[in-house]
Amino acid sequence: MSLERTYAMIKPDAVAAGNSGKIIDLIEKNGFRIVAMKKLHMTQQQGESFYGVHKERPFFKGLVTFMTEAPIVALVMEREDAIAKWRELMGATNPANAAEGTVRKLYATSIERNAAHGSDAPETAADETRFFFSASELL
Ligand code: UDP
Ligand code: MG
Repeated sequence: MSLERTYAMIKPDAVAAGNSGKIIDLIEKNGFRIVAMKKLHMTQQQGESFYGVHKERPFFKGLVTFMTEAPIVALVMEREDAIAKWRELMGATNPANAAEGTVRKLYATSIERNAAHGSDAPETAADETRFFFSASELL
């Protein structure tokens, strides 16, 4: 398997709680190389567009409100099988179902305020990376 890249976010709940450093440490300890990283505050328009795939879902409005309430940390990271490995390290969407030692088990407080985002496929990883980073920022 060759190197793969994924797009990740440390969500506003985890950044505000002071857990971003611990999550970045977990990322590096699990063999990911950080390709790009920035802290930013998503606008309403960015939130609605980023989560557009979920716009018909009952949780969409609350999700956008949550994701725009405070800064996030956006990352692009690389390792073998990065997309699946990061989703594994994040744990289940609902922290009640997340495995021990995962980011969501450790730091999420609800199915909505679940500490982290990870792309779900190569196409979404590429789209989500482009949404927040220019090519020259990928190092
Ligand atoms: N979400 C929510 N309620 C739900 C399902 C999802 O608030 O019932 C939020 C949660 O923050 C989740 C995000 O919407 O991370 C995107 O949902 P998705 O199903 O893509 O989960 P993920 O890929 O983040 O595990
Ligand atoms: Mg998803």
